[in-house]
Amino acid sequence: MEKPRKIIVAGAGLVGSLLAIALKKRGHDVSIFERRSDMRKAGTAAGKSINLIVTAKGVKPLRDLGLWETVRQITSPVTGRTMHSKAGEIAYQPYGKDNTECNHSVSRSELNCLLMDEAEKVGVPIHFNSPLKSIDLKKKIAHFESSAPLSYDLLFGTDGTGSAVRQTMVEALGDKAKYGVEPLGTDYKEMHMPAKDGQYVMDENSLHIWPRGNHMLMGLPNRDGSFTMTLYIPKTWFEDFKNPTAFKNYFEENYQDTIPFMPDFEKEYQANPQGFLGTVRMKPWIYEDQIALLGDSAHAMVPFFGQGMNSGFADVQFLLDQMTEHPNDYQTIFQNYNSVQKAAGDAISDLAQENFVEMCDKVGDEKFLLRKKVEHKLENTFPEHFRSRYGLVTYTLVPYHLVKEVGAIQDEVLDELCRGIQSPENLDLELARKLISQKITPWFEKKSLSPERYRF
Ligand SMILES: Cc1cc2nc3c(=O)[nH]c(=O)nc-3n(C[C@H](O)[C@H](O)[C@H](O)COP(=O)(O)OP(=O)(O)OC[C@H]3O[C@@H](n4cnc5c(N)ncnc54)[C@H](O)[C@@H]3O)c2cc1C
Repeated sequence: MEKPRKIIVAGAGLVGSLLAIALKKRGHDVSIFERRSDMRKAGTAAGKSINLIVTAKGVKPLRDLGLWETVRQITSPVTGRTMHSKAGEIAYQPYGKDNTECNHSVSRSELNCLLMDEAEKVGVPIHFNSPLKSIDLKKKIAHFESSAPLSYDLLFGTDGTGSAVRQTMVEALGDKAKYGVEPLGTDYKEMHMPAKDGQYVMDENSLHIWPRGNHMLMGLPNRDGSFTMTLYIPKTWFEDFKNPTAFKNYFEENYQDTIPFMPDFEKEYQANPQGFLGTVRMKPWIYEDQIALLGDSAHAMVPFFGQGMNSGFADVQFLLDQMTEHPNDYQTIFQNYNSVQKAAGDAISDLAQENFVEMCDKVGDEKFLLRKKVEHKLENTFPEHFRSRYGLVTYTLVPYHLVKEVGAIQDEVLDELCRGIQSPENLDLELARKLISQKITPWFEKKSLSPERYRF
């Protein structure tokens, strides 16, 4: 039986709101303190409408809490990615191994509002305009602006990339903490492709990519027939593109086929804010048995695997599972959280950095496309024994650090199978069967994992 605790959640973003709902439902006394004003009243700022992909590891805790069907209503299915070449040619790659698997695109602010509504419904108060000021770690008292000092048993830092909770931990832990930010060197701007007569102007079930080497444009569908477009360019170009003519020339040269559908691209580019991209690494994620970081405060990452929020939701899931397994033993719960989820967070941050190169550069490459087709064929021919790295990250609950490990073995197998062939039709299925059973199956057995077991 879990003893009710007085819990403070700092940050009412996606992860903080979800965590608060789960803890409240377990009988704890939970309050959220949020730096910003209530976004449900203020509306979304222009150029900050980010669309997210929700996948298995994110769906799981939503489903366990009975929220998935409500969330699903505000998502659009995305079944694959469509690549657009400079010449206007189009190539499509399905994501899942069959028609039942897809990603779910959702507006970040809409999802955040829904989760805040749900938190309030279960009785969690959200105190807005209340940034964390300081924490007295010895006395377990937190100081938020516009609030009297508050004592707590447990405090969770879900206050995002610039986390004040993390800062307090870094100062308190001194040499025992390792904290750093690795800027990607590429930032982003959001733009918009409106619906035409209420209809989508491109395939509505795709993530669209215009890969251009070290820069790219991406489009994700919204439910109203429009697309949220995100332009990723090297940081140094932002200065040059303050000159509207330079930006117009660049855009016309690279994304010609979008121009008829993006009437305001020049205005939007100049008006919208530049978004920073980078990886935050922190060690440890806990302070004794009283504070834990979850989501971006622990592991902000670049968005190229679409797993930032999903991995934050996986943090919530892991903590909840630990609470069930070791009721009231926060020493063990926090230690296990710190060792397992930290490994998972590091792995998905690395995979997301690698995927940046894949999306910008490789998705237009013939050899890469062949490799993806071969992977797809293996998934469908040997469904019990082969799951692509993308599939394991996205459609299963296999932890990210294990996916990274088996992904390296799969790469070796794919290298061998793709050598010398021009089409997936030429794939040597006997050789494939042999390599999978020699190299991949034993790995899953050693880890007592089967890809199917972690399908959900
Ligand atoms: C362009 C882009 C695309 C992305 N695409 C995807 C995707 O497809 N799939 C995916 O899973 N993820 C994606 N992400 C990542 C995702 O947005 C984040 O991982 C997710 O929002 C993290 O949630 P969080 O709750 O940890 O942090 P946040 O959402 O940043 O929430 C933190 C909250 O804490 C509050 N706060 C900050 N400081 C304080 C303080 N001192 N005191 C109190 N409150 C404070 C903030 O106001 C905020 O409300 C993308 C990100 C970007 C930038």
